[in-house]
Amino acid sequence: MDIAVFSAKPYDREYLNAANAGHHHRLQYFDVPLDIETVSLAANHGAVCIFVNDCADAGVLQALVHGGTKLVALRCTGFNNVDLKAAQDLGIKVVRVVNYSPNAVAEHAVALLMAINRKIQRAYNRTRDFNFSLDGLMGFDLNGKVVAVIGTGKIGRVFTKIMLGFGCSVIGYDKFPSAEFEALGARYARPKEIGESADIISLHCPLTPETYHIIDASTLARAKRGALLINTSRGALIDTEAVIDALKSGQLGGLAIDVYEQEADLFFRDLSGTIITDDVLQRLVTFPNVIVTGHQAFLTREAVTTICETTLQSVTEFETGKPLSNEISAS
Ligand code: NAD
Repeated sequence: MDIAVFSAKPYDREYLNAANAGHHHRLQYFDVPLDIETVSLAANHGAVCIFVNDCADAGVLQALVHGGTKLVALRCTGFNNVDLKAAQDLGIKVVRVVNYSPNAVAEHAVALLMAINRKIQRAYNRTRDFNFSLDGLMGFDLNGKVVAVIGTGKIGRVFTKIMLGFGCSVIGYDKFPSAEFEALGARYARPKEIGESADIISLHCPLTPETYHIIDASTLARAKRGALLINTSRGALIDTEAVIDALKSGQLGGLAIDVYEQEADLFFRDLSGTIITDDVLQRLVTFPNVIVTGHQAFLTREAVTTICETTLQSVTEFETGKPLSNEISAS
C-alpha cells in the first residue's frame, strides 16, 4: 500500500524501513507535519502515517478522503489530534499503537523525577565548569514518600511498580479503577487525599475534554507545598501559566515535563538559532527547578521497533481486509 509518512525523522525512516522488510509497502517520507497546508502531499496514498503533533481535524480528514486516503495510522498511543467522529462520518479508518513499551515512558518519568529531585541538570552544568560546590543541590530520599499516579493504565502501572521498588507508597486516581493497580500494592485515593499527602504527582492519563487542565490553579493550591509534578503524558493536562505561578510562590517544588501545551509549534526540531516567541516556555526554562525534555519518553530502541512493526502490521491488515487489531473509533 502507498503510505505517506508525515513528520518523518531520521529514526522514523530507519525503523520503518527495517520493519517494512516484512510488509513491502511503498513508503514516502515527508519532513513536514500533516496539516491543512500539507495535506495535498498525501494525494494518491491509501494510508497516511502520522505522529503526535500532526493535525487530523475534520478539514484535513476531508481533504485526505478527497485525495484517496482511507486509513490514518498513528504511530503513537494518544489520538487527541484526530477528529474520530469526522473520520467515522467520512468512512476513514484510524489505527494507533498501544502497548509498545510502557516501560520506555514510565522509565523516562522516573528519570525526570530523579533528575529534578537530585538536581542532576544543575550538577551536570556545574561540574563541566569544574564547580564542585554542593550549595543548592539538596534533594530528598524517595524512600517513604507518597507518590500519586493520575491514570493507572499501562504506563501508570509500570511507573507505580518502579516507585514501590524505591520504597514509596503509591496512591492512584483513575476514572476506571483497575484491580491490577491495587494488586501491585498501591491503592486508590480521592483527589482531596492526593492533594494533602502526595510528595510527587505523576500524570499518566490521556488528554480528553475531561482531563484538559486537570492540574490548574485550584488543584495546585490544594497540593502539598513543595510537591514535585511530573508530566510525560500530554501537555494540556497542565495549565502551564498556573504552574508558573505555583513555581514562583514555592507552592510547587519542581516540575519535570516531557510534553508541553504548545509543543506542536516547537518540539521535534532544532530551534537553537531561533528567537522563541513563546513567552510561557521561555519563563518555564528559566526556573532552576524545571526540566523540559522534548517528547522523548517513547524514544527507546525497543519502543520504536514495536511502534514501526505494529503500524505497518495495521496497514497490512487493512490492505488485506482483515479485522483491524488496533482500530480506534468515535464510539
Ligand atoms: P492507558 O490507556 O493504558 O492508560 C490511561 C489510563 O488513564 C487508563 O487507566 C484510563 O482509565 C485513565 N483515564 C482515562 N480518563 C481519565 C480521567 N478522566 N481521569 C483519570 N484517569 C483517566 O494508556 P497508557 O499507555 O498508559 O498511556 C497514557 C498516556 O501516556 C497516553 O494517553 C499518552 O498521552 C501518553 N504517552 C506519552 C508518551 C511520550 O512519549 N511522552 C508516549 C506514549 C504515551
